[in-house]
Amino acid sequence: MTDEVRSDELPTTAVDPVTSSGRDGKVKVAMIGLCGCWGCTLSFLDMDERILPLLTEITILRSSLTDIKRITERCAIGFIEGGVANEDNIETLRHFRDNCDVLISVGACAVWGGVPAMRNVFELKDCLAEAYVDSPTAVAGAAPVIPFHPDIPRLTTKVHPCHEVVEMDYFIPGCPPDADAIFAVLDDLIHGRPVALPRSLNHYD
Ligand code: SF4
Repeated sequence: MTDEVRSDELPTTAVDPVTSSGRDGKVKVAMIGLCGCWGCTLSFLDMDERILPLLTEITILRSSLTDIKRITERCAIGFIEGGVANEDNIETLRHFRDNCDVLISVGACAVWGGVPAMRNVFELKDCLAEAYVDSPTAVAGAAPVIPFHPDIPRLTTKVHPCHEVVEMDYFIPGCPPDADAIFAVLDDLIHGRPVALPRSLNHYD
């Protein structure tokens, strides 16, 4: 890593006491999208009306839903969408592993790389050339440029499933998984039951 300060080490805004006390006694959950399409996060939202009663039992810290960008307290459960395709993904995934008791790969991209891993059969330089130099949508007459800047996370040579970077505790397959499957796993975990995802929610044939 070339960053002098990790993103999760940047200063945070203090949480006001009322908000903080409202989280007491609740199961703390965090979620993040790495290299995916956010479809799995939308599947989480597809729990629809079941989310509201859930919020009496859980509180969602870092997530794209809350727009909280750091894990400010240790979490019981972390949901990871997407695989690992750049150095920022590695940093974020390790931060989740360090701060979540249970870490869950949600969806095909997190479980085995998914669609982004299709680039694994090519050399990275060829993928970049196809995207930025030889692209049929390149602006005619413009000099082709492959973006490079210290602030742009460097791509990994291959796209990796999350468990190749850190240990993952559970895997919810699907592209995206059904909201019922995510709810079933979350409901088991917050009520202290062994996770038992029924096959009826876990097959696609
Ligand atoms: S598994 Fe499917 S829905 Fe989920 S992030 Fe990957 S491509 Fe999107």
